[in-house]
Amino acid sequence: MKKYVLKCLECGTEYQDDYLRLKCDAHHSPSLLRSIYSKKRIDLDWNKPGMFRFYDFLPVEQFLEVKGGPVTYRSEGLARHLGLENLYIIFNGYWPERNALMKTVSFKELEAPSVMARASNLDGGAIVVASAGNTGRAFAGICSRNNMPLVLVIPESSAAEIWSTEPFNEQKVKLFLASGNSDYYDAISLAEKITCMDGFFPEGGTANIARRDGMATTVLDAAYTMGRIPHHYFQAIGSGAGGIAAWEAFERLKEDRRFGNTLMKLHFSQNHPFVPMVEAWKQGLDHIPAMDENNAKDKINQISAKVLSNRKPPYSITGGVRQVLEESGGEMYSVTNQEVYSCVHLFQELEGVDICEAAGVAVGSLVQAVREKKVDNQDYIALNITGGGYNKLRKGHNLYYLSPCAKFTDREIASPDIMSKPEEVFTAV
Ligand SMILES: *Cc1c(COP(=O)(O)O)cnc(C)c1O
Ligand SMILES: [Zn+2]
Repeated sequence: MKKYVLKCLECGTEYQDDYLRLKCDAHHSPSLLRSIYSKKRIDLDWNKPGMFRFYDFLPVEQFLEVKGGPVTYRSEGLARHLGLENLYIIFNGYWPERNALMKTVSFKELEAPSVMARASNLDGGAIVVASAGNTGRAFAGICSRNNMPLVLVIPESSAAEIWSTEPFNEQKVKLFLASGNSDYYDAISLAEKITCMDGFFPEGGTANIARRDGMATTVLDAAYTMGRIPHHYFQAIGSGAGGIAAWEAFERLKEDRRFGNTLMKLHFSQNHPFVPMVEAWKQGLDHIPAMDENNAKDKINQISAKVLSNRKPPYSITGGVRQVLEESGGEMYSVTNQEVYSCVHLFQELEGVDICEAAGVAVGSLVQAVREKKVDNQDYIALNITGGGYNKLRKGHNLYYLSPCAKFTDREIASPDIMSKPEEVFTAV
C-alpha cells in the first residue's frame, strides 16, 4: 500500500504523488490538495533525526539529516501570569537548554526539510522558492547543507535575512533579488516567471503538501506532549500555511482516536495595521477584497512582524484559512506593534528566551483571548511560538550571508519577458 495519496478537497479526486503536484486537474474553484496517510496511528520514530521522527506523517520517502524539530513544554511563568492551568508552548527556534535546535530560528525550518526531501525524488532541475525572509533562510540552509539545488527569490529589503551559521554552498544555492520597493508578493511574481523556464519547478507555497505537513508536526508534537488534543491553538499568520497545517494535524489526531475528540479551536492573529484576513473574517467576507498596492505596502512598512505580510494569502480557496476557521469555530485577532513589543518582553521575562515579533503577535492574541474570556482557565492551550532564540544563537555563532547572483528591477518583474537578463544568470544554476 502507498504511504499516502493526495486528495482534492473540492472534488475528492485522489492522486498518486509525482513529487511536484500542487493542484487538482479538474475544472472547479481553486482548492488545496491534502495528503491522506494510510497509517492512522501516530507513532514517533526516535531513530530518525529532528522533525523526521514524524516520518510516517510526512509526504517523503527519505529523510534529511536535520537537528531541528518542534519542542513542546508546559509553561509555568506565562501560564501563572495569565492564570492558565494548562498552557503549553510549542517552541520553534534555538534554545539548546530545551533541546530546540533550529539554527534558522523559525518554524520555516519544518517546511524546508520536508519539501526538499519530497523533491529529492525528482531528477535534476531546481526548486524555486519565493520568500520574505524566514522561509528563504530555512531553505537556503537546508539545501546548502544537503547539497541540493535551490533558486531563492526575495525582496531586496529582506537580503539581510538570508544568513547561516555556516558558509553557504553558493554552487547550489542561488539568490535572486526583487529590487526597490518590492515586497513578498513581488518576489512571488518573479518566482512564477522563473518557473516558466525549463528545469525550474515552483515550490508552491501553501499549496505544497510537504510544506504544510512539515508545519503540522507542531500540533502532533503538542498533542503527544499533552497526551490529548488541545482545546485551543494560537498562531500568528501571514499566509496561513501553518494555520491550515495545524487543522490538518488535528484531523489526523482525531482519526488516531487515542488523543480524544475535543474540537480544536483555531485562534489566528495578524499585526495591525496590516490585517487583511482579520478584516475579511470579521466582516464575514468569503474573500479578501482587492487591495490598493501602495496602501497595502504602506501598511506593511508599519508592522513589526514583517513575516506576516502576504498580500494574497490563501484565504478563500477550498481548504484554506476561511474554511478551517469556520470548521473550528475559530477567532481572529489584530495585535498592535505596542502589544507585540510588550509581549516579546513579557515572554523573555517569564519564559527565559527571546522570541521574534511574529511570535509576539501570537502571545498578544492569547493575552486578548484571556482578557475577553475566550478561553477557560483549565482549557488545554497550545501556543505556537513560531520563531525565537536569535539572541541565544548570536552569542555563540558567527553569521554568514548569501551573496545575490542577480537583481531584477520593478520594470523587469512587471515585464512578461525576464529573459532579457543574460542567459548565464539562469544557466549558472
Ligand atoms: C511564516 C511565519 C509565520 C506565519 O506562518 P503561516 O505560514 O502564515 O501560518 C509566523 N511566524 C513566523 C516566525 C514565521 O516565519
Ligand atoms: Zn478537484
